[in-house]
Amino acid sequence: MKHRKLVVSTGNEHKIDEIRKILQGLPIEVLSKKDVGLGSLDIVEDGSTLEENSIKKAKGLADKLDYMVLADDSGLFVDALNGQPGVYSSRYGGEEGNDKKNIEKLLKELKDIPLEKRKAKFMTVMALITEDKEIQVVKGECRGTIGFEPKGSNGFGYDPLFVPDGYTQTFAELGENIKNKISHRAKALENLREKILQLLEE
Ligand code: IMP
Repeated sequence: MKHRKLVVSTGNEHKIDEIRKILQGLPIEVLSKKDVGLGSLDIVEDGSTLEENSIKKAKGLADKLDYMVLADDSGLFVDALNGQPGVYSSRYGGEEGNDKKNIEKLLKELKDIPLEKRKAKFMTVMALITEDKEIQVVKGECRGTIGFEPKGSNGFGYDPLFVPDGYTQTFAELGENIKNKISHRAKALENLREKILQLLEE
């Protein structure tokens, strides 16, 4: 079977590795945007939903390439905060990508909220655009509870606060092996594999 190229709109090698792993065995070659000479292409994530942002990022690449492209966007949605920080998760504390400030802000916002009302979910949306510019969206979510203080040292972002349902420790305590089986991203990746299998059969 002929190999098809899939170009991923991220500079994060870790994410690209994850995608390579989940698509192992399929006739798909996973490349980063840097691999195709678009390393400096930066698309502003100004959408109001994860879906809007992921489609916007994928379209930015698809406009320049005739390969399949993929872009993702994730966030933490806290029930008691009406879904905040949501699409603004990475800049919630005021500074893009400052995990410490984001955690401090979230704990402050949830200061008087008791355990049973600290439910939340992580969501990942992935937008795939095929060679003939058809848009496919897959999603994954992981439900859990926000703790009262950061715990654990693995992972990134809100991991030290997030206790997934069915567990008593945070993602940052549970570590990568468990997280990679149950996380929002893992579920979105499984759905991506299914979607790509369907596309290969067409
Ligand atoms: P991204 O779209 O994967 O870059 O995620 C956006 C933001 O959501 C990150 O900067 C984190 O603050 C948060 N986030 C997404 N996924 C995770 C996760 O698995 N653990 C902790 N925080 C996450």
